[in-house]
Amino acid sequence: VPDWKEEEAITETVFRDMNEWSEDMFVAGGVEKLIETYLCECSDRRCTVPIQLTRAEYEAVRGVPINFAIALDHENPEIDSVLAEHERYAVVQKMTGSAARIARDSDPRR
Ligand SMILES: [Zn+2]
Repeated sequence: VPDWKEEEAITETVFRDMNEWSEDMFVAGGVEKLIETYLCECSDRRCTVPIQLTRAEYEAVRGVPINFAIALDHENPEIDSVLAEHERYAVVQKMTGSAARIARDSDPRR
């Protein structure tokens, strides 16, 4: 669980990036709604399914090092814990190796 200050810092970074990047955007409801294509980050390394997230959504997922954006139904129940399912993608938390250790260490209910 990231602390709030860290999350705030991430948010600030996102906004800074958006500002740097806004020159290229086509204006269609603002940068927050601009959808970009990423590759599914599921545990299958050969998976190249494109997923669509807004830049802000993607940055929010990657703001947590053990969180990943994947295509819907691409989670591996043995190592992925689904945090959220959206229309276009799902967010999972990896529960392997150091990721599991980090997740355990930061579990407030432990
Ligand atoms: Zn996948």
